[in-house]
Amino acid sequence: MANKAKFQAIKGTRDLLPPETELWNRVEQTAREVFGTFGFGEIRPPIFEPTELFARAVGGETDIVSKEMYSFEDARGDLQEMREMIRNYALPATDEHWTNAFLGLLRNFQTRLEAGIRSGEVEHHQEAHAFYDYFSQGITHFQAELSHGVETNKPEIDRTFRLLKLAVAGVTLGPSVCLRPEATASVCRAYIEHGMQQWPAPVKLYYMGPMFRRERPQKGRYRQFYQIGAEVLGGTDAPGIDAEVIEMVMAFFGRLELQGAQLEINSIGHSAPNCRRGYVEKLKAALVEVKDKLGADSQRRIATNPLRVLDSKLEHEQAIIEKLPRIADSLCDDCKSYYAEVKRQLDLRGVAYRENWRLVRGLDYYMRTTFEITAQGLGSQNAVCGGGRYDGLVELLGGPPTKGIGFAIGEDRLILSLQEAGGGTATGRDVYIAWMGEKAQATAIAAARKLREAGLRVELPPVEQKFGKALGQADKLGAKFALILGEDEVASREWTVKRLADGTQEKVNGEAVVEFLKRKK
Ligand code: AMP
Repeated sequence: MANKAKFQAIKGTRDLLPPETELWNRVEQTAREVFGTFGFGEIRPPIFEPTELFARAVGGETDIVSKEMYSFEDARGDLQEMREMIRNYALPATDEHWTNAFLGLLRNFQTRLEAGIRSGEVEHHQEAHAFYDYFSQGITHFQAELSHGVETNKPEIDRTFRLLKLAVAGVTLGPSVCLRPEATASVCRAYIEHGMQQWPAPVKLYYMGPMFRRERPQKGRYRQFYQIGAEVLGGTDAPGIDAEVIEMVMAFFGRLELQGAQLEINSIGHSAPNCRRGYVEKLKAALVEVKDKLGADSQRRIATNPLRVLDSKLEHEQAIIEKLPRIADSLCDDCKSYYAEVKRQLDLRGVAYRENWRLVRGLDYYMRTTFEITAQGLGSQNAVCGGGRYDGLVELLGGPPTKGIGFAIGEDRLILSLQEAGGGTATGRDVYIAWMGEKAQATAIAAARKLREAGLRVELPPVEQKFGKALGQADKLGAKFALILGEDEVASREWTVKRLADGTQEKVNGEAVVEFLKRKK
């Protein structure tokens, strides 16, 4: 019986394997090509960043930041080593030598920590101080217990020992970093850090790569998932930019022949009192009226983020939400005409859309244009792209006032949808070279090199096989052709090419075989 696998990919993560990875590569290659034709260049930001960046950019009250980030402390140095030593200290022996050594270690840590807090090396926050006081008391207590003799006081010493270890393990020594849950914040950080406001505007960047959110995994929802996104930063906020960004995503999906892509758009105004802020007040008032009929999540959001109530998928809330005030009736004149122009610009580009007044982004710096694209074959997780305008974000992160708009495509879902529609790739090989005999092997090796140089996918068996077995193998690998090289073929230079789909075969001169197979591929 096979052993049960000892290690498995962590829940919510997965291995992407051939032949599926071929489709991933095709999708990514197509993105590069299409985005390139719109003048976008690639940015590759790091995968981990300061936790604070996302707390600020994405928002502390969002699920992403409050529950889903993989964050950890990035400490290194002697303080951290001392902490590890204390944390890993072996369980107590009733031995004076041991207890004194431990006490010495604690004292060193205490002195070093105090200096660290004073110099600012350890963040000077309340928690550090509270910990420091608690810890100092703990040490005094421990020392007092020890003075009564290790033998008589064993249980108390043991308890204090464990508590001190736990306390030390819990102290934060270094900055918190996290695996990125999205990349817009990183791109804006990089824009500021590299002074891209000096570059010719607008700066157009695209990225692709893994994102991390601790979500409940299901079909189309993973903890490590991949996004392909783009941002336009700086320059004007002409509505033509919004339309062109959307046109680009649709062109990309079109090139991939994604089935049933549905674009929805909305305008969420801007944060002025006579625009979104006024609307949010109206919405809040209307929500308070119907509060008792709403679920717990929506009830909570009335106070924290009323716009998010419009996102609700709960069946019984739908009829209630339909009757709520709509943002279109509250937009200020500027936002109204901006929205009208975005729609006109989409029409000019022949991009079909549906308006959805419930499409919101719950963060203050999102403004005006928001959009989402859904695709077929994905069940409830059917959004493959979300985007919007975010003119306030760069400034929020400490940069100059900067116009911005962008989107993120969920690559996993895009791929799922392409596969559901039968658009997966059958990998395989173009040519399987079946050879027998030493001379044939030399010819086969040379042929493989030439075929590969011509871009064909070639399988060359490393050891001799009977032709029957080789052809079976070629079939299993999904090869299109088998090139058969035996002593006869080598001698006559007339090679046998067999088309595996129908079993037909013909003789082709060795010199002409590359051209022949390239044509047939
Ligand atoms: P967001 O960054 O939340 O606006 O998401 C943009 C797109 O990323 C969504 O439309 C999804 O296609 C995709 N996405 C977001 N979260 C996940 C996840 N946990 N697993 C897979 N795809 C995701």
